[in-house]
Amino acid sequence: MVQNLISFSNQLKTKKMAIEHTCPNCGHHELSIFYEVRNVPVHSCLMMSSKEEALNFPCGDVVLGFCNRCGFITNTQFDPKWSSYAPNYEDQQSFSPTFNKFALKLANNLVDKYDLHNKDIVEIGCSKGDFLLLLCELGNNRGVGIDPSVVPGRVSSEAAGRVKFIQEYYSEAHAQFVGDFICCRHTLEHIQPTSQFIKTVRQSIGDRLNTTVVFEIPDNTRVLQEQAFEDIYYEHCSYFSPGTLARLFRNSGFEVTDLYRDYGEQYLLIEAKPVNTPSQTIHPFEESVAEVAQDVKLFAEKIEQKLQYWKNYLQEAQVRQEKVVVWGSGSKCVAFLTTLNTIDTIEYAVDINPHRHGKFIPGVGKEIMAPEFLKTYQPDKVIVMNAIYCDEIGQMLKDMGVSTEVVAL
Ligand SMILES: [Zn+2]
Repeated sequence: MVQNLISFSNQLKTKKMAIEHTCPNCGHHELSIFYEVRNVPVHSCLMMSSKEEALNFPCGDVVLGFCNRCGFITNTQFDPKWSSYAPNYEDQQSFSPTFNKFALKLANNLVDKYDLHNKDIVEIGCSKGDFLLLLCELGNNRGVGIDPSVVPGRVSSEAAGRVKFIQEYYSEAHAQFVGDFICCRHTLEHIQPTSQFIKTVRQSIGDRLNTTVVFEIPDNTRVLQEQAFEDIYYEHCSYFSPGTLARLFRNSGFEVTDLYRDYGEQYLLIEAKPVNTPSQTIHPFEESVAEVAQDVKLFAEKIEQKLQYWKNYLQEAQVRQEKVVVWGSGSKCVAFLTTLNTIDTIEYAVDINPHRHGKFIPGVGKEIMAPEFLKTYQPDKVIVMNAIYCDEIGQMLKDMGVSTEVVAL
């Protein structure tokens, strides 16, 4: 009898664990926890108008779980109640020539590859609308951009008259807008019910089987292999590698037509078409779940060493009374400083997005300065949050007559 009670109690415990850690990508009831960061801001890009407001920003925990059935990684502590994206969500990247060059190349490729001329394009999670307007300019297309943080009129474009912006979260309600081409960039990683989301996109397409779908997200392979902890933060609840993403699309009624990395191997792109019978076509770029498991193991083994390196770096600079600034005030900066718990080793963050200047970073409380500020501040060290911008930043510093050490994560 006692044995039965213990056994029953264990069953309950197991069941509770399983409910808590179900994979939102495939429904598997077992996730292995491999990384934890407690008490980090639940948003990185909402701009705060005072230091106090920024420092009092709500916090949550990041506890990453790995699914050994589909390879997906999710923040098991993510609470969707914090997913509030509004016009003061400032993630526009088009102030950087490096980024614009990439966006233009991608847009041109897609216009050529899918003959996007005089077509109807929908962008889910269009941010401030730069990319959608670009696609519409290049091919004389018509567009619908759906995003709660969109600011109509922010980006000027000759295509503005052909593009409608809807300040809402994407849902089945927007199925009427589905046309020839759907794109969704840097949005899926903010959504926890990934399977449900991709199935909603598929349902909204219905029988319009000529519709092309393109998604772009950060590739988590590099994050795991290089222990890029600055890319792990609360807003990103979902982490994909190529195979995991491809399997999700196949399981949701799509055939994967292309799969590749771009932007210094940081971004992962998938191109797919809707099908009525499940696709069996595996793309050569897909990795197996076992390979992701290897990367997870490597990350777990090496992350402490990586964190300690940067803690020492910042603390030693502080002891030497050096002036250190972080270049890039977005999510990577928030993750970098809050994960290391060394916020007070820097005074300022610098950003080229003018809509961020004079605002304060959630959870970090530092004021965001324009690059020109460095002319008077003359920092000893500039830590660049994304190495892809090093050349651009180096040139700006040179042009401003700022002589400083530049290091990248
Ligand atoms: Zn899974």
